[in-house]
Amino acid sequence: MSFSKICIRKLVLLVSVFCLTFFPYTNPLLALSNYSNSREIIQPPAKNLIEGAIEFHVHSAPDVTSRSLDDFELAERANQAGMRAIVLKNHVTNTADRAVLVHKIVPDIEVFGGVVLNRAVGGINLQAVEAMYGLGKGYGKVVWLPTIDADYHLKVFHKPGTGIKVAPAGKILPEMDAVLQFIAQKNLILETGHISPEEVILVIQRAKELGVKKIVVTHAMADVPGLSLESMQECAALGAFLELVFVNNLMGKDSVIAAHRNWHRVSIKQMVEAIRAIGAEHFILSTDLGRQFDPLPADGYQLFVEELIKQGISQQEIDLMSKDNPAQLLGLDSIQ
Ligand SMILES: [Zn+2]
Repeated sequence: MSFSKICIRKLVLLVSVFCLTFFPYTNPLLALSNYSNSREIIQPPAKNLIEGAIEFHVHSAPDVTSRSLDDFELAERANQAGMRAIVLKNHVTNTADRAVLVHKIVPDIEVFGGVVLNRAVGGINLQAVEAMYGLGKGYGKVVWLPTIDADYHLKVFHKPGTGIKVAPAGKILPEMDAVLQFIAQKNLILETGHISPEEVILVIQRAKELGVKKIVVTHAMADVPGLSLESMQECAALGAFLELVFVNNLMGKDSVIAAHRNWHRVSIKQMVEAIRAIGAEHFILSTDLGRQFDPLPADGYQLFVEELIKQGISQQEIDLMSKDNPAQLLGLDSIQ
């Protein structure tokens, strides 16, 4: 064999070893990107930490923005990772009927959907929720209050115009009341979306008065709603679960993804401090991943759990936040 052929072979071998060592995830770019903030090098996970876990907040194609996986691929990968359930979220359209279809193609994992009450579905309106519920055949479980069209979201991110308020001047809108009544009647899950901290408290109080039993504060520590520790404690005391999402840890000015640069980073350390102060029994874990060049959702979930454990969260606390609490919300039994 000629000298140059031996050199090429050695080079190929070296590149392969390098790739396997530093790019264990599906897309090498993702591996590079996902810890750009903390500048840590990702090692392949020693063991599967998300067996039986539930993903409560994840985005997939088709969508108006580009997503790394479609509904079927997302469910397939979550299933391969041994996850128990996923909840599909889309800012502009209902996902309950999509969950029904995914069940037919990927039957071994529970898939749920819901509707976000943004402008594309008419904002806060009972008809959109009734349609979601009817289309979902039992898999439509979640009603999110406005996200990208919430007035608070527009203000925080310096966008023009007026968005949707659920409690202008501190008073819950009648159409909001109608939606809350329906959620209570069908025992659905209310998620707070991107409304203001004041609205979060008001809507949780009103939801409770109307008999809503399942409430989640959407990515409680993110810019929107941007709850203080005291507000999070108040929500927890009212019986709402607080959601922590992995994508918040990838955000910030130096994020490799442009869409993440307008948001503040919420470090794992900050999340751990909140869990310590309030108690794991009040939290659920999600990723909120789905953008191109983000880690793929199941990989992100694995990294999330790994980091939380590294920073002192016990397996029992992980199980509460990733399995038991979300299973309770979704009406799945909590036996692992
Ligand atoms: Zn989201």
